[in-house]
Amino acid sequence: MSSVVVVGGGIIGLCTAYELCRQGVSVTVLNAGSPTEGCSIGNAGMIVPSHFAPMASPGMVKLGLKMITDPRSPFGFLEPWDPAVAAWSYHFLKNANNKHVHRTQGLICALNRASKALYQEYQTELAGEFGLNTDGLLMICRTFEALEHEAAVMKDATELGLKTALLSRDETQALYPEVEVSSVGSVHFLDDAQLSPAALIPALRAAILQRGGVIHDHHRVERITRHGRKIVSVATDAGESFSGDEFVLATGAWTGALAAKLGLNVPILAGKGYGFTLERPRLGVAAILTEDRVAVSPMLNGMRVTGTMEIGRVSSGINRRRLEGIYAALPRYFPGLTEDVASVAGSGSNGIWQGSRPCAADGLPVMGRPRKYENLTLASGHGMMGLSLGPISGRLAAQAVTGQTPEISLDLMHPDRFN
Ligand SMILES: Cc1cc2nc3c(=O)[nH]c(=O)nc-3n(C[C@H](O)[C@H](O)[C@H](O)COP(=O)(O)OP(=O)(O)OC[C@H]3O[C@@H](n4cnc5c(N)ncnc54)[C@H](O)[C@@H]3O)c2cc1C
Repeated sequence: MSSVVVVGGGIIGLCTAYELCRQGVSVTVLNAGSPTEGCSIGNAGMIVPSHFAPMASPGMVKLGLKMITDPRSPFGFLEPWDPAVAAWSYHFLKNANNKHVHRTQGLICALNRASKALYQEYQTELAGEFGLNTDGLLMICRTFEALEHEAAVMKDATELGLKTALLSRDETQALYPEVEVSSVGSVHFLDDAQLSPAALIPALRAAILQRGGVIHDHHRVERITRHGRKIVSVATDAGESFSGDEFVLATGAWTGALAAKLGLNVPILAGKGYGFTLERPRLGVAAILTEDRVAVSPMLNGMRVTGTMEIGRVSSGINRRRLEGIYAALPRYFPGLTEDVASVAGSGSNGIWQGSRPCAADGLPVMGRPRKYENLTLASGHGMMGLSLGPISGRLAAQAVTGQTPEISLDLMHPDRFN
């Protein structure tokens, strides 16, 4: 094959392009946004073998029902009566059962572990430090109920071969010498890791360019020309048209709408979240503040705070109530950060980042080649773990494009599964 057009320049599109470049394939990436915006650059940077349960699970339904009526809670729907939300919810509820969890958790865990190993390779291949920290992830709990729940997850994690530890309040505090932690204890998932996406994305882009790839930002694909079962070319809002032998859709939360233009049913909605960075403290280990679902991550430039999952179509507004939920949560676990948080809250929307997670209705990535087309690969729907799954998804997508057998089966992630 001589050329591949990758649509989408987030972590999934870039990792796919990078893998293809490594195999000597000629690649053009078309990206609607600029290099410094998007879901992939401002997220919490966590690499999460510990997040092996798919989002469509009985636990998530229980949690969602508990939170859905509270406008400051970390979870909600933007427009519950929108037909796209209704269709998504149908597939979500159809899959939110133990059978689905048991069928998929081994795969999700394996994908995350393979991706972590590839990030360790990236560390030696990419020019530029991206802060890979392999000290694991802590689930910090303020209540014994939450700690008990995490201890149960820990049991399943151990069965999947993951290393874990249950930490007392003092042991948890000892990991954060710079700040007081208010907790009853935590669970430490030792196989997890974390990095700085704002440093990784430029490093990946540079590596693609260095290997001869081409990246066009501010190029939103608007029209797709087909001939029978073949995609021939795509045209962008910059007035240019790009042809290729193969096409990859890695368009994150926008994938459902673009795939619909090709007659494909891919229920992916945006799961909007927010983030900001505090200059201090220098955290040692990344953590999730369990009851409030807020993530805190040590980045190269400070402490990143992220949270909230609002399901709906892609939208640009900031929901102040959800943001207030994050502001209120942080000092409950780190009382010493009250003033730091107040200063961020006082500066309005300045420095507030928002990103749209591409959430597939059944909580699994959408990876592979739809039967309707001969030269199209989808790589999207990674929800809460697109950063974590970037390198392995890039590897699998590249293998699908080049006709190799993917090293991890794509059967459960097949794009046609919603038909
Ligand atoms: C608050 C928050 C915290 C998170 N924390 C983590 C974490 O710790 N770990 C983790 O693994 N994941 C995390 N995520 C999820 C992660 O950020 C996403 O799963 C990941 O970024 C998705 O990558 P993507 O490449 O699929 O999509 P995106 O990053 O959204 O990239 C898609 C790209 O496609 C482009 N595009 C769209 N339509 C078109 C078009 N028509 N033509 C051309 N280009 C187009 C867009 O401009 C965009 O750049 C978090 C997300 C949020 C919101």
